[in-house]
Amino acid sequence: MSSTVYLNGEFVPYEKALVPVEERAFLFADGIYEVVRVYGGRPFDLEPHMARLVRSARELRLPEPDCEGLTRVTRELIERNQIQEGTVYYQITRGFHGPRAHAFPTGNGAPTVLVLTHPLAPEKLAEHERQLREGVAAITVPEQRWARCDIKSVSLLPNVLAKQQAVERGAYEALFVRDGFVIEGSSSNVFAVLDGEIVTYPACNYILNGITRQRVIRTARELGYTVREEGIPLAALSRCQELFLTATVTEVMAVTRVDGQAIGDGSVGPVVRALQQAFREAVQAL
Ligand code: PMP
Repeated sequence: MSSTVYLNGEFVPYEKALVPVEERAFLFADGIYEVVRVYGGRPFDLEPHMARLVRSARELRLPEPDCEGLTRVTRELIERNQIQEGTVYYQITRGFHGPRAHAFPTGNGAPTVLVLTHPLAPEKLAEHERQLREGVAAITVPEQRWARCDIKSVSLLPNVLAKQQAVERGAYEALFVRDGFVIEGSSSNVFAVLDGEIVTYPACNYILNGITRQRVIRTARELGYTVREEGIPLAALSRCQELFLTATVTEVMAVTRVDGQAIGDGSVGPVVRALQQAFREAVQAL
């Protein structure tokens, strides 16, 4: 079934949603994005995702996104495309401006605003459920990104290369290591359980402050865990009890092996199970 896409103020068939070749996202990756998970036909944590979109836009001096309008578009696309389990993807770029030139265009160039949905196929969801139960493998890679990873920019080449390396080595995720600390994944945040406490890299310019990360930190504290926002030393992985990822589609996912070495006893631990259950309850309360 062909889906409907929202592009620059109009609802159009997917095949007709086209942008010009001198679109700045195509030429310069000059744009930002968000991904929202849809559960049972409802968007989850839409507000914080919209707030982060606004922040990313400000940081890149893009025009302020119309969050109310995008919220209406979100509901309309979910309805039109009959999304029960799936995702909504938002991308805002500095738009089309030829001839190609690095500096921002002068005048009133319009941004490109794109919203599209993807259903999550039942077999993908089943695979995801299995991974939640059994845990996944990760590899470590050296950090090669810029110093503004807090902006959710579509400029993702180091993330793409890191994820591809993970896939080629049979792993789910690649963990970036910066100055001897595990800071985040190529498309997820990372947490460790060390000496009974939950540790995750602080929200700063070197990581994306995940919406799931923020939710999980809040939930963990409500459940009585101590959460420290500090670097996870690479050297401490061999003695951590649990390691896990958080992200919109990934949810709360145990990492049971890193670079071939087991984490803890190599199985999904109690902290992850408790956080997964709390996450499931939040989804059910939607
Ligand atoms: N870090 C990076 C680099 C990511 O790409 C993502 C996923 N977009 C995350 C963290 C997790 O963010 P969120 O929980 O908002 O999906």
